[in-house]
Amino acid sequence: MNTGTDYLLDLNARHSRTFIDLAMERRRYRGEHPTEIAALKCMDGRLNLPVMTRTAVGIIQPFRNLGGKFDLGWPFFQATLDHWAQYSIGRGRHCLIFVTYHFARGDIHRGCRGFNYDTNAARDTAIKLKNQFERIYGKGAVVPIVCGIETDLEALILHGEDGRVIDLAEVKEDLSGLELEGMLHSLYPSMPERIFKDMIPLVEGNIRHVRMIRASNRPIEDAEHKEWVLGVGRGFDWLHAINTAFIVGPFDPNLSDAIGTAAVLLKGNIDDGRVTPSGIVLMTSAAYREIGPECELAKEKARFLSKFALDVIKAKVPDLVPHLNILTGYTDLNTRKFEVLERLDKVSNPVAYKAA
Ligand SMILES: [Zn+2]
Repeated sequence: MNTGTDYLLDLNARHSRTFIDLAMERRRYRGEHPTEIAALKCMDGRLNLPVMTRTAVGIIQPFRNLGGKFDLGWPFFQATLDHWAQYSIGRGRHCLIFVTYHFARGDIHRGCRGFNYDTNAARDTAIKLKNQFERIYGKGAVVPIVCGIETDLEALILHGEDGRVIDLAEVKEDLSGLELEGMLHSLYPSMPERIFKDMIPLVEGNIRHVRMIRASNRPIEDAEHKEWVLGVGRGFDWLHAINTAFIVGPFDPNLSDAIGTAAVLLKGNIDDGRVTPSGIVLMTSAAYREIGPECELAKEKARFLSKFALDVIKAKVPDLVPHLNILTGYTDLNTRKFEVLERLDKVSNPVAYKAA
């Protein structure tokens, strides 16, 4: 079974090589489709939008938190998001923001545990967040749309401006490009043409992806919760292997609650025998782009967040602590390469843990 720290480091190394190899492809794609795209998502490991939309990694900027819950009142979140938006607008680019929630059409219990499987509550929260974006940025360069992610078929559910909904798993087989454009125009009549044009490849990609998933007839157990990594921080968009990680972004002012919830879910996976207990990893990452103070600050942040997360887990889910392997580092956003600051495999030994 693929678990443990070595597997993670190997996975990162492979993703980083692919990411670097795709630099030209991304540049070409960005030349054609300049809209900056962000996705606000639940930390659930199944929500891999680049795969679901057949888009190269690095095109969609992910923001992940428990349940996909965000609030533009959160100080760190608004600073990060606004920096992203201003940076994009400053370069003459539009911003498209997917405000997402998730569920599974086959079984409510494959839905979002961050919302206790209440899809209506998850959807309502996404709609509220979309409205918050519209209140702040108006209707223009920054366009938020509500998007459900249905994980059984990995289909996107597009919510139109008038509340109408289109499930991309249900569009007819022989839909033409013109019909697709007509369908999207009717959903988003006021969307700027530039964003509209840059959204179409994602929608087409998802329609193709859903057909592939359907044809593959994959076993449904693949979609059950088997996460064994608790990822804290940023720079995890390479870590999207299905059933691998709960990711807690640093955005929520009640960070300890989000970490505690993820720890409870992780412990549940152990107790229910869904994961190998020796392979559990608490992985912390901070992201940076430039060598110098930004990189040094990322290292400090990673060390702080790692200790913070461990302290939260000790206080809230102490039974999980003996299972933890610790991996702390920082991720270069130019290459997605994760550099290790600290690695501790010994926590899984209860004797060593007690001695420490
Ligand atoms: Zn979720």
